Amino acid sequence: MSTVKEQLIENLVEDDEISQRKITIVGTGAVGMACAICILLKDLTDELTLVDIATDRLKGEMMDLQHGSLFFNTSKITSGKDYSVSENSKLVIVAAGARQQEGESRLSLVQRNVNIMKSIIPSLVHHSPDCKILIVSNPVDILTYVVWKLSGLPPTRVIGSGCNLDSARFRYLIGEKLGVHPTSCHGWIIGEHGDSSVPLWSGVNVAGVALKTLDPELGTDSDKDQWKNIHKQVVESAYEIIKLKGYTSWAIGLSVADLVGSILKNLRRVHPVSTMVKGLYGIKEEIFLSIPCILGQNGVSDIVKLNLNSVEEALFKKSANTLWNIQKDLVF
Ligand code: NAD
Repeated sequence: MSTVKEQLIENLVEDDEISQRKITIVGTGAVGMACAICILLKDLTDELTLVDIATDRLKGEMMDLQHGSLFFNTSKITSGKDYSVSENSKLVIVAAGARQQEGESRLSLVQRNVNIMKSIIPSLVHHSPDCKILIVSNPVDILTYVVWKLSGLPPTRVIGSGCNLDSARFRYLIGEKLGVHPTSCHGWIIGEHGDSSVPLWSGVNVAGVALKTLDPELGTDSDKDQWKNIHKQVVESAYEIIKLKGYTSWAIGLSVADLVGSILKNLRRVHPVSTMVKGLYGIKEEIFLSIPCILGQNGVSDIVKLNLNSVEEALFKKSANTLWNIQKDLVF
């Protein structure tokens, strides 16, 4: 007696099981799941795999997403604690680990999250030796360095989400001040994703009009409009949101999905992400910091050479020193 399926459907060819654009997200907390939903809604992958150590919640999150399949075009959503489920990933997003408590800095998370990376990265790379890895866990710049070392991958394939979110916050706040949509307000934040990040006031522009040409004091203490407060707000925003809702998730999820689009669609768009900056702007150590990078199918294929003024270069070096003072003592 044939089944209903056999009566309804006649199979002509066996399906090719191999995904072409598989993404794995490690860590299915607030950030990992915000990344997942943003990626699904933008149709960026044909297979999304979730990995976490919290197995019940992991299965619950997978099922919840699977039940939304009617509303997006990703054919396969899988999950597991074992890294074999991540096999053949083109891109792995790492959002696992401890997050900041109220008032805690990103840098104080470091050793806890380094240990977590040690438990994740070797198995991940074993199952997807050709993948790119996008690190979101904090402190993101130091962890990107740690993951690069643990993975054995070329630095161009290990990318930190870095100042992509800081720059989005910067552009949103500039837009609010000017009454212009953030996509038309151009501005970059480089350096550490965190307290020592560097706003490039010299490059802030709308329609190619540099705001600094309108007020040379822009961004300095003597600027009567106090644009400097915008960068202060960027730095303080994660602390404020964590105080208000316990964690940040939506903006980081959206900004990660934007990076994923550039990588998987080989768009070669320029993003401020964390990459190896040894040899640039007088930096001698193996440090990862955000600078404008061209992102495509090979990860960071090129960097954009910035004309930093002396103040910006000094702040960038200070950002590097802040990280190096912590990174140099790490044990892993
Ligand atoms: P969360 O506590 O909600 O989720 C963390 C998840 O990681 C949990 O599900 C936990 O079970 C999992 N996990 C812990 N150890 C693991 C391991 N060894 N293997 C696999 N999974 C493991 O935290 P969150 O709010 O989602 O934040 C995650 C990370 O993202 C934090 O480090 C946070 O600081 C960082 N973050 C970064 C940015 C950024 O701009 N880069 C923005 C927001 C948050």
